Amino acid sequence: MFHIFKKAAQTHLVTIGYPHAPAQISESFRGAPSFDFPSWRDARPAADACPTGAIRIEESAGRRRVTMDYGLCIYCGQCSEADGTSAVKITRNFELGVRERSELIVTAEYPLEQDGSQGKLAGLNSGHASEGETKEHLERSVHSRIQQVLGRSLAIREVDAGSCNGCEMEIGALNSPVYDLERLGIHFVASPRHADMLLVTGPVTRNMELALLKTYRATPEPKMVVAVGACGISGGIFGLNYATIGGVDAVIPVDVFIPGCPPRPHALLHGILLALGRMEQRAI
Ligand code: SF4
Repeated sequence: MFHIFKKAAQTHLVTIGYPHAPAQISESFRGAPSFDFPSWRDARPAADACPTGAIRIEESAGRRRVTMDYGLCIYCGQCSEADGTSAVKITRNFELGVRERSELIVTAEYPLEQDGSQGKLAGLNSGHASEGETKEHLERSVHSRIQQVLGRSLAIREVDAGSCNGCEMEIGALNSPVYDLERLGIHFVASPRHADMLLVTGPVTRNMELALLKTYRATPEPKMVVAVGACGISGGIFGLNYATIGGVDAVIPVDVFIPGCPPRPHALLHGILLALGRMEQRAI
């Protein structure tokens, strides 16, 4: 027993300070890729190398449209390696949770040069929803009412709708002494009937579609849904096929999307606190 107390005293505090202190991220951590669209001369190598189709190219009438969908990105870094210029870089950015799916999509337009490369950037759409839209205002006010009701404590029911368990590994880490989710008044519960939030992972498999819908209906109002990872957002590398029906929002309404494959525990914390209005959305 004395041995255990001695070891505990020597270990000191292991719990991170995030979100009250900046996250300590390892040097080798691979976060979201960043694109310098004005200086990007040729998107084809990166698009060809991308294993998930997150970078898409469409060409017509001498113009090229390049679309980057962070909801499909698995942060593999192959775009940066294939591009080989400073226009595409892998960053250590992980705070990518957003409230609208469209906010994860960036579109750039270029005129095409004779050699197939891109000319001067002609347009850039970051996908951010327009603040003036009535629908969004309505959703925001409903959201802030939910935040007032839920206050500063939160019960989460995790739903694996078909994930590979990568996201579950990271979610499990939230309960470890390092991330210690309960210090923020947030804990996991065993039943949707006791939950304020559903944390849903995986491309929704056809076998889990009804179960997910029933879980959503069993969760009392007001409730929030957070879609976790590339699969939860868009179906990821599985997409639409005989066994899966894509992202979580194909079945139930989603309040926050957390990109990553899998999102690291810091990213999960950011997304959960974003849903609660306790953290701000960062610009992609
Ligand atoms: S980091 Fe993302 S965009 Fe780049 S190749 Fe991998 S999946 Fe595609």
